[in-house]
Amino acid sequence: MTYAGAKYSRVLLKLSGEALMGDDPFGINRHTIMQIVGQIKNVVDLGVEVAIVVGGGNIFRGVAPAAQGMDRATADYMGMLATVMNALALKDALESVHVTTRVQSALSMQQVTETYTRGKAIQYLEEKKVVIFAAGTGNPFFTTDTAAALRGAEMNCDIMLKATKVDGVYTDDPEKNPNATRYQTLTFDEAINKNLKVMDTTAFALCREQNLNIKVFSIFKEAALTRVVLGEDEGTLVHC
Ligand code: UDP
Repeated sequence: MTYAGAKYSRVLLKLSGEALMGDDPFGINRHTIMQIVGQIKNVVDLGVEVAIVVGGGNIFRGVAPAAQGMDRATADYMGMLATVMNALALKDALESVHVTTRVQSALSMQQVTETYTRGKAIQYLEEKKVVIFAAGTGNPFFTTDTAAALRGAEMNCDIMLKATKVDGVYTDDPEKNPNATRYQTLTFDEAINKNLKVMDTTAFALCREQNLNIKVFSIFKEAALTRVVLGEDEGTLVHC
């Protein structure tokens, strides 16, 4: 069932950790997180069910220079813990604007958050609560893009909304080439053939296999998330 005006009834929003930094070099910028939360609240108010996977790159990445010389799996667990911090900050910000939110972590830490349970997460979504999935897939050597594809498929989401700094997929890097143009739509095959990097290959393959279309858009553009959910010409749709 689709709600008044909205094109999708359930979406998976992938927010990178870097989206939370704003112009800061590290961590969480309060003004930025409140701006993002304002956009999420608007689509929740449209009746859309919102699941979120948040990254951790603003705090720690298993492949970051800071992790050099470390055992990769240990560094990745640190990265997953960073996503839990972001999830808690996002929940706090959402609740400050009266959006009921639950966090579920792929790694158990019962004093801090609930552990991921598929049925419970679906129940929360049906109850119109926002669900934030923390700790990625719970496994080292993966990314939160892959976690987003996985949870998006598990939650039977209509689409994965990949929030980036750039407002879509371009023919070339728009920051370097002023003649680069935005694709309005692309098929998965076109994206592969043109060697366009939409997300990491594991995540991309999973979306393609599960017929989970991807919308790439900029969370920093005023009302962009609402425009995406209303099906307006915003960002790039990668479809089957
Ligand atoms: N990570 C992981 N397994 C997962 C998801 C994430 O090991 O399923 C770790 C990995 O070290 C990664 C870090 O968590 O670098 C932060 O996630 P990601 O880089 O995807 O965050 P984003 O780029 O979206 O901020």
